[in-house]
Amino acid sequence: MPTFVYMTRCDGCGYCVDVCPSDIMHIDTTYRRAYNIEPNMCWECYSCVKACPQHAIDCRGYSDFAPMGHSVRALREEEKGTISWKIKFRDGREKNFVSPIRTTPWGSIQSPADYAAPAQAAFKAQELAHEPEGLNIDKLPTLTPDRLKQGVV
Ligand code: SF4
Ligand code: SF4
Repeated sequence: MPTFVYMTRCDGCGYCVDVCPSDIMHIDTTYRRAYNIEPNMCWECYSCVKACPQHAIDCRGYSDFAPMGHSVRALREEEKGTISWKIKFRDGREKNFVSPIRTTPWGSIQSPADYAAPAQAAFKAQELAHEPEGLNIDKLPTLTPDRLKQGVV
């Protein structure tokens, strides 16, 4: 389900604009509040829901079943480090889920600028930055020619 913004709660901080991978959270130039400019293009990743400090972003139910009474609410609680989801089914049942916003302490992740500049040879390598050590493995798995033949009759 795509998202929408309660403009009365939004303070225009722009966190959702910065975090949206689809670049569809924009600030309305007249009201200085955020809005989802293109719900059809929403990835439904809910990064904006998790980032919003004002609890101003919610999930828009699909028009074919939302009128039947279902709802999805998200609540970000930064002091607890959790995000809670309250799912209400149209038969009245409710399910509640609580997940950590992240699994590492706040501020513990190095920014790209904290790492040494890569050597020239790294630009020609197949590995992405900080692979394989960033994946906690010694070496990336590779497909060898003998394994390619498996399954070929
Ligand atoms: Fe953007 Fe994801 Fe929010 Fe959709 S759910 S508006 S893609 S951040
Ligand atoms: Fe508004 Fe929340 Fe987006 Fe900030 S993160 S601009 S408060 S909707």
